[in-house]
Amino acid sequence: MASKQKILFASAEVVPFAKTGGLADVAGALPKVLAQMGHDVRIVMPRYGSIDGEKFGLREVVAPFTIPHGREQIEISVEQSDAIEGVPTYFIRNDYLYNRDSLYGQPDDDHRFVAYDRGMLEMLDPLGWRPDVIHCNDWHTGLVPVFLKTTYADLYGDIGSLFTIHNLAYQGTFSPHIMELAGLPWELFTWDQLAFWDHFNFMKAGLMYADKINTVSPTYAKETCTEEFGEGLEGVLAFRKDDYAGILNGIDYEEWNPERDPYIAAKFSADNLEGKTKCKHALQKAMSLPQWKDAPVLGVISRLSYQKGLDILDEVLPDLLENHRLQVVILGTGEEQYHDLLTRLALRYPEKLAIALKFDNALAHQIYAGSDFFLMPSRYEPCGLGQLISMAYGTVPIVRATGGLADSVKEFKSIRSTGNGFVFEGLEPRDFAAAIERGLKCFTDKPECWDRVVQNAFASDFSWQASAKKYAKVYKDAQAKAKTNYQQPQAA
Ligand code: ADP
Repeated sequence: MASKQKILFASAEVVPFAKTGGLADVAGALPKVLAQMGHDVRIVMPRYGSIDGEKFGLREVVAPFTIPHGREQIEISVEQSDAIEGVPTYFIRNDYLYNRDSLYGQPDDDHRFVAYDRGMLEMLDPLGWRPDVIHCNDWHTGLVPVFLKTTYADLYGDIGSLFTIHNLAYQGTFSPHIMELAGLPWELFTWDQLAFWDHFNFMKAGLMYADKINTVSPTYAKETCTEEFGEGLEGVLAFRKDDYAGILNGIDYEEWNPERDPYIAAKFSADNLEGKTKCKHALQKAMSLPQWKDAPVLGVISRLSYQKGLDILDEVLPDLLENHRLQVVILGTGEEQYHDLLTRLALRYPEKLAIALKFDNALAHQIYAGSDFFLMPSRYEPCGLGQLISMAYGTVPIVRATGGLADSVKEFKSIRSTGNGFVFEGLEPRDFAAAIERGLKCFTDKPECWDRVVQNAFASDFSWQASAKKYAKVYKDAQAKAKTNYQQPQAA
């Protein structure tokens, strides 16, 4: 390894402690691989009430101390867990702010994440540990790069920062009072610094101030520079284009491995698919579907949202269920309209559609393992992990060619093809329906082709090793940039 770096990885959700989506998967996997490469990596996240302190062996490592918060001082402490091998995880504790029943969507998220961002810098001194670089993830960490270049410039101005976009649609937009809450000078509240249409936008703040920025797939990096995908920040990304890159996410094959998965009915591998058939039958049983042997099972695990193409799925489902011998299993939570629609359809087709409107990690493993196909008709997809995980289980993805889906799934065209799934481009329901038809035809009529595409899916390798090396390089660049700027007289 070139040189060992000290990396603080800041994420508001981290597997196995707290998860609502793919960010948590990344935060639980990438630091582990960086640590295996020899880097000194530590994670910092809020101490949510839902985290089981006993299970994860949480212990206090910094006693309560006060940090500035607007015009007040608030008390935080720091706890540590060693549940992730080789990666100490720090938890910023303030029960008033973080002991809630959900991770986000609280009316005082502004207070919660201003305090988290400031708390992680304030904890460094009492911890006696100083990172070379802070890897910030999504809007919850957007103030950290700002603090490093302003309030904490004297102390920590030479610490590099990387800001990663996992989903540009969630920006953390609040009224300008954040400036006071964070103790930032009003002269920074201009359009080319921290103001965003008279609001304070955490995501923009991170993107403007971080030394380097990136997102989680090369295609999404390109897409976000356009008006269609830029969510209003395309100008900022164009301005930062020399420092902006796309690095494809990986998955943690220790967690997503059909040969070792503790949640599934039978173990299996690419060489021995008997267990997969058992998993399929167990899934049908668990979801109260008849155990049809000839029918394919199509799985969906998703936030039920417009982003994920749930409207397209809803348009395609009635015809699919009416006219095909197949079964669909859907796991997800989200917008009420999709809950209602899916509930109605499931009542109408009880033998063909089973839904579970909840967040359930064990069931997710069972669906990845027991399905034949995995559906992701996303309108946009920064990376998407569902398609990567499904392939680890030999479950063939049917996806829309956008963002990370376009970077990871290629159309299966013939028995000699290396294609690992079925891909469509347009946004019309008929485009999605046609891709499903191609998949079903392959499954039903062409057993040799089906075996091939399943093997191609298994063989697709999305381990973190290659991407972790790219991150290590960006960390180095970020640190070098911070150091260079730090030495300039006006920054001192
Ligand atoms: P997102 O945009 O939601 O982050 P990703 O595809 O990047 O989408 O990651 C989603 C992650 O969350 C995957 O690990 C997926 O298995 C998991 N997931 C999504 N919905 C559920 C659910 N209802 N129950 C369990 N796991 C879920």
